[in-house]
Amino acid sequence: MSKQLIVALSKGRILEETLPLLADAGVEPVEDLGKSRKLLFDTNLPDVKLVVIRATDVPTYVQLGAADLGIAGKDVLLEHGAAGLYEPLDLEIARCKLMTAGIVGAEPASARRRVATKFVNIARRWYAEQGIQAEVIKLYGAMELAPLMNLADEIVDIVDTGNTLRANGMEPRELIAPVTTRLVVNKASMTMKHARIKPLLERLKQAVVARREDVAG
Ligand code: AMP
Repeated sequence: MSKQLIVALSKGRILEETLPLLADAGVEPVEDLGKSRKLLFDTNLPDVKLVVIRATDVPTYVQLGAADLGIAGKDVLLEHGAAGLYEPLDLEIARCKLMTAGIVGAEPASARRRVATKFVNIARRWYAEQGIQAEVIKLYGAMELAPLMNLADEIVDIVDTGNTLRANGMEPRELIAPVTTRLVVNKASMTMKHARIKPLLERLKQAVVARREDVAG
């Protein structure tokens, strides 16, 4: 196993909040990630490299050992299953909720409910746990449109402010899970590269606590 540490970062919204936290923990990319079309980046630490990939691919990279560490939302980890991963640290960023939602005032369908979502595994599991029969329909985006177009009775989606739902005449219903961004670690890496991973984990933990105290004022 190489001595290098590869850290897989989720593209997009999470990345913006991750980079300052990594910098506080002493890891900084040598070039601007936002301005480059590259996917693999050197950092100020000679043995740490960053890859910037789709959030849904992060658990796969870490599970299969292509990356030692990963940063991904709890929503993505729950949907993936994240078997074979350690999840040692909640980074407490990109906080949101996984919820069911439907058209304002509409009664949830009583028989078999049609549910549109990109989180098909989470949705199947949750409706089964509630004892509700559900037909889960996979979509890749714009879930809010599905009930309006009579493609589904409900959706399962990420809710932050609720503005997207409201703008489409929908309302949040049930909370499935609170979501924050987590640090995940490949199990073999955790053993084989423990001496290198442990101090990085400690510094990240300190950065999270410092930020929490900052917010608390
Ligand atoms: P909002 O209108 O503030 O409720 O935001 C909802 C939309 O923003 C959702 O449809 C998500 O696609 C996206 N979103 C909000 N927060 C997050 C997050 N932490 N991670 C991923 N997507 C998010």
